[in-house]
Amino acid sequence: MKHLPLLCCLTAACLLPLPALAGKAGAHVHGTASLQVAIDGQTLTLNLETPLENLLGFEHAPRTDKQKAAVRAMSERLNQPAELFSPSPAARCTSVSVALDSPVLKPGQPVAGDGHADLDGEYVFRCENPAALRELEVGLFQHFPKLRRLDAQVAGPRGQSAARLSPQQRRLAW
Ligand SMILES: [Zn+2]
Repeated sequence: MKHLPLLCCLTAACLLPLPALAGKAGAHVHGTASLQVAIDGQTLTLNLETPLENLLGFEHAPRTDKQKAAVRAMSERLNQPAELFSPSPAARCTSVSVALDSPVLKPGQPVAGDGHADLDGEYVFRCENPAALRELEVGLFQHFPKLRRLDAQVAGPRGQSAARLSPQQRRLAW
């Protein structure tokens, strides 16, 4: 029984019972990020939390021109929600807002702490036909190859579920 979640993850659905991944969201592990998916009426909200390492390859304030350019490129990429998240087409979801929060996005502010830093992103979509909202394809892996694993949790009208996404398994279904 212990190996069932892993086997499940090799299938298209890749849904795990919530306790299988509980407690891991929010931990700072390079290569890993978390995604909270909330469906409330017509509103689809995605909360991404990831170590900067997965996006930039470094976690300190940018010093060189190359590092500053990398931060700009990351920010531009993350501000294109249609490139990163594809909800079920039949649900007809459109992006409403993107909010990014990270120390490297605040010029002049030192990246404090233990040398590690995160980025939080909130993506809000409005869906004309939320009843058809059954899956989400995640495009983060193509754009950020250092990201190897995304622990996703879904809360919506169909209840709660969790799944582990990867470059090989980019589709979250519920
Ligand atoms: Zn780190």
